[in-house]
Amino acid sequence: MTSARVTPLLQVDGLRVEIPTRRGVLLALDGISFHIAPGEVLGMVGESGAGKSLTGMAILGLLDPPGRIAGGQIHLGGRRIDQLAAADMRRVRGREIGAVFQDPLMSLNPLLRIGEQIMETIRTHLPVSALQAREQALDLMRAVGIPAPEARFNAYPHQFSGGMRQRIVIALALCAQPRLVVADEPTTALDVSIQAQVLQLLRQLCRDKQTAMLLVTHDMGVIAETADRVAVMYAGRIVELGPVEAVISAPVHPYTRGLMGAIPQLGPVQGPLAQIHGAMPRLNARPGGCAFHPRCPQAMARCREQDPDLQTQPGARQVACWLADASGSAA
Ligand code: SF4
Repeated sequence: MTSARVTPLLQVDGLRVEIPTRRGVLLALDGISFHIAPGEVLGMVGESGAGKSLTGMAILGLLDPPGRIAGGQIHLGGRRIDQLAAADMRRVRGREIGAVFQDPLMSLNPLLRIGEQIMETIRTHLPVSALQAREQALDLMRAVGIPAPEARFNAYPHQFSGGMRQRIVIALALCAQPRLVVADEPTTALDVSIQAQVLQLLRQLCRDKQTAMLLVTHDMGVIAETADRVAVMYAGRIVELGPVEAVISAPVHPYTRGLMGAIPQLGPVQGPLAQIHGAMPRLNARPGGCAFHPRCPQAMARCREQDPDLQTQPGARQVACWLADASGSAA
């Protein structure tokens, strides 16, 4: 997909999220910028604590207090949504942005029959009769691959397998025909054999309805299977962003190289597998200069002093590394 030619549906500019604490204000997201076009899947990958889930929560208006958006802007379909009142944001969340989280049981009411939950969600957001809502609910159950939906309509969540429950959550997220879906580790809790089916389903539904998707995951394999472009996050910043095939076959940022090297079947074929030593810095211990420098095998003196900005490279790639040159490669 060549999203650059399509007007973005989601536009995030310079997003900054702070978490005030007794010991000072922690900067959790530091100037995140990206866009997603209709029908496009943007994967957001990184280790735990990189800020990828926080980015999704900021877009959904679901940051846990005292976390707050302290700068930047989020536009959905041209409308600014980061400053909306809570009630307005609730409407946007159900109607225009759907959410799929890791644990399907978090999104389902254990005491309500599946059919009723889907119907209720449809009627909360769309002006339809009970009969129409029932038909739409059955259609959605069919679309997400629930076998014999009429027979399963009155079943409770605990009567479904984990994979089927996650399909129901996807149906719930799509009830109001949202323009954007934020999916945070949507298959992490599922068996490997079911993961691929659920990812394929999400991918297909987005293509069919031209729904944009932000897919948050720690798993580069999930990104490779599902996303059009990928944003690699480290310590609250995007360090590399570009088309999935290009980033996977020729990662530029040393951190992305390390992520790829940790997955042998995805790694670049030349040279020994890379490893990332050490751990992501805590929010209150972000090193000066490039935050990756204590772990970077190619760090130079400059890296300890100056933080590189995300620079555009050929091939619709952006990289934040002093070694990235105009040809799109790191030395
Ligand atoms: Fe490594 Fe320096 Fe590039 Fe940071 S800027 S990733 S420390 S080479």
